[in-house]
Amino acid sequence: MNALSPVILREAPAFHATAPVVVVGGGAAGLTAALAAREAGLEVIVLERDPVPQGSTALSSGLVPAAGTQAQKRRGIPDSPDLFIRDLTAKAKGKAAPRLVATVAHEIGPAIDWLSGRHGVPFDVVEGFLYPGHSVLRMHGTPRRTGAELMDHLRGAAERAGIDVVTDAHVHGLYAGPDGRVLGVRIDRPDGSAEDLGCASLVLACSGFGGNPEMVRRYIPEMADALFFGHTGNTGDAIAWGAALGAGLRDMGAYQGHGSVATPSNVLITWALMMEGGFQVNAAGERFSNEHEGYSEQSVAVLAQPGGVAWNIYDQRLHDLGLAFEDYRHAVAAGAIRSGDAIEGLAAQLGLPAATLAATLADAQALAATDGRRDRFGRRFSGKPALAPPFYGVKVTGALFHTQGGVLIDEQARVLQASGNALPNLFAAGGAACGVSGPAVWGYLSGNGLLAAVGFGRIAGRSAAALLGRAPAA
Ligand SMILES: Cc1cc2nc3c(=O)[nH]c(=O)nc-3n(C[C@H](O)[C@H](O)[C@H](O)COP(=O)(O)OP(=O)(O)OC[C@H]3O[C@@H](n4cnc5c(N)ncnc54)[C@H](O)[C@@H]3O)c2cc1C
Repeated sequence: MNALSPVILREAPAFHATAPVVVVGGGAAGLTAALAAREAGLEVIVLERDPVPQGSTALSSGLVPAAGTQAQKRRGIPDSPDLFIRDLTAKAKGKAAPRLVATVAHEIGPAIDWLSGRHGVPFDVVEGFLYPGHSVLRMHGTPRRTGAELMDHLRGAAERAGIDVVTDAHVHGLYAGPDGRVLGVRIDRPDGSAEDLGCASLVLACSGFGGNPEMVRRYIPEMADALFFGHTGNTGDAIAWGAALGAGLRDMGAYQGHGSVATPSNVLITWALMMEGGFQVNAAGERFSNEHEGYSEQSVAVLAQPGGVAWNIYDQRLHDLGLAFEDYRHAVAAGAIRSGDAIEGLAAQLGLPAATLAATLADAQALAATDGRRDRFGRRFSGKPALAPPFYGVKVTGALFHTQGGVLIDEQARVLQASGNALPNLFAAGGAACGVSGPAVWGYLSGNGLLAAVGFGRIAGRSAAALLGRAPAA
């Protein structure tokens, strides 16, 4: 254990400063929780280990699924929390905590409307294609479709709300009494100094353990050697503290993977290309899976191919669709995207066997012309135009994006002991808490990460305020 390993400290000092609500971590979950608690009239301090709060949120596409929002209504998209619950439940094969699924599906729509209406986050519905597993268009994003832009807006909102965001503040210890009540935190500063801060309630929003190779090897061995594409500062601290306080842990094998990270340039290639008619082949030029199951589990399928790589194959129509995404434009600029007027030319560009790739393409084109026939993997190509020249391709690998297992919480985002009793004043949200993706990679419905961060972040902030007798503003 090194000096900064998370610990529970039993000897609390006389705190020189105390805040009603302290939030550990300044990503989407932390800033959303802080906004909610602040709105109830409480002083809130967010402690963030980095010089600028970014987290995995800033690395993400910033897309949040939500049902029944004003943005959906403006576009005439019929949706409801019940339909969303059905989609979440189907993706996780009924293995996600049902009460958390129901809670977050009901709460996320109002949360998105609240962030847009009250805090000026310009969410709109992403149109043009359905993410795997969603019955209707319900992904909400800011104009550039980047998490960095979402974080800019959340940081701006926090500043306007008068929230104290303290950066370069690495929380390493929680002071806790014998009953599990958190009394304060110990903060390490980059210059080696330490500070203590007392609190009446604490929100853990310091995400999961993707940045902790030992924990990944223990809980998600199939990703132990994979590229980690998330925030390296997320080292599982909430889980270590929670476990030391007797909290239950749930769904520790759950995570968001992605089967479409350009290699070697390490740029995310939008899954929209697969949903709208593209497909993936291995080094033999052959398909190996149903790309429509989801991009998360596709990480495992891609890593199982020779060399742990695959190639996305698509056409001009889909290339144009991709250009709407900033990441895709970066991939173009990096020279990762190759093209050819004929499939043989593309095969030469990508170093793939031309005859096999041409046969694979012909199969996909033939399937697109059928009346819904499924291929041997269970995918339908019909309903989308058959791929047509010129063709495009990019070499990709599978990666671990973030973890979805964490401390057990209830519908109020209170951290629960394994027995089911709530700890007195501890809340958790986002990657720090167990999510709604079931126990493994296949349960991740697109957007479950920010769904849990924003949805339970707001609940955690409200609950932390309610514990201190403050109701949120109407
Ligand atoms: C490339 C990529 C694309 C993605 N795209 C999407 C998407 O489009 N939609 C979606 O829903 N999800 C997406 N995700 C997942 C999503 O980013 C996460 O689920 C979400 O950001 C988690 O939010 P969070 O606030 O819990 O964690 P984070 O945003 O990671 O914030 C946690 C913060 O806690 C800080 N911290 C950690 N430990 C400590 C400590 N001890 N003391 C102080 N601070 C600490 C960290 O520095 C960090 O700033 C994507 C992830 C990646 C990597």
